[in-house]
Amino acid sequence: MIDPVAASVTRLEAVRAGIARAAADCGRKAREITLVAVSKTYEAADILPVIGAGQRVFGENRVQEAMQKWPALRAEFPDIGLQLIGPLQSNKALDAVRFFDRIESLDRPKLAAALADAVQKAGRQPGLLVQVNTGSEAQKAGILPQDADAFLAVCRRDFGLQIDGLMCIPPVDQPPSPHFALLAKIATRNGLSTLSMGMSADYAAAIQCGATHVRVGSAIFGTR
Ligand SMILES: *Cc1c(COP(=O)(O)O)cnc(C)c1O
Repeated sequence: MIDPVAASVTRLEAVRAGIARAAADCGRKAREITLVAVSKTYEAADILPVIGAGQRVFGENRVQEAMQKWPALRAEFPDIGLQLIGPLQSNKALDAVRFFDRIESLDRPKLAAALADAVQKAGRQPGLLVQVNTGSEAQKAGILPQDADAFLAVCRRDFGLQIDGLMCIPPVDQPPSPHFALLAKIATRNGLSTLSMGMSADYAAAIQCGATHVRVGSAIFGTR
């Protein structure tokens, strides 16, 4: 009989090995790359074995879902880091600032203003990444590549936000590496060191292009 619990841990180990291989292949060290396990749609019972195997950084794409399932797990494992990787509505900015260790989906001035406000109220600033819509897709969140420099300046100067880096989700129907390279280029010219890019299907390519964080869901937890 197949034990689904063991399956997620086996898959986690395969992803760790894949990260190490991709890093070695381009002369990087595996410890320069943080694996963010994307646990959206999965419940505590599915997440626990992965925590048990030593995974500590998790990504969620909905504020509400994360606030329901993580407090109990966090009480048990206080060293867990939680990252919001999905779109954030301005009216949930304060919840997100209080709850997450990092928000990766800052992508518009209105949200920057709401986050700045929330940071004042909460007395803490989580790590912040600006999401860039590298493929300029109409349906996708993220600041357009040509607007990224100006937006970063606005976040820093007008809103006093400290920005750690950039995040992108390349178009599904294109080779991802040019998008990863573009994100790396925008980060370099803005003095940013954190690059959140690469998912289950393309994290190795992202590591080749300089990813510091890869967001891997289905390759660990199974298909959603
Ligand atoms: C769901 C999601 C992921 C993980 O995707 P997989 O293909 O399951 O690895 C990564 N990043 C974001 C923003 C996501 O929403």
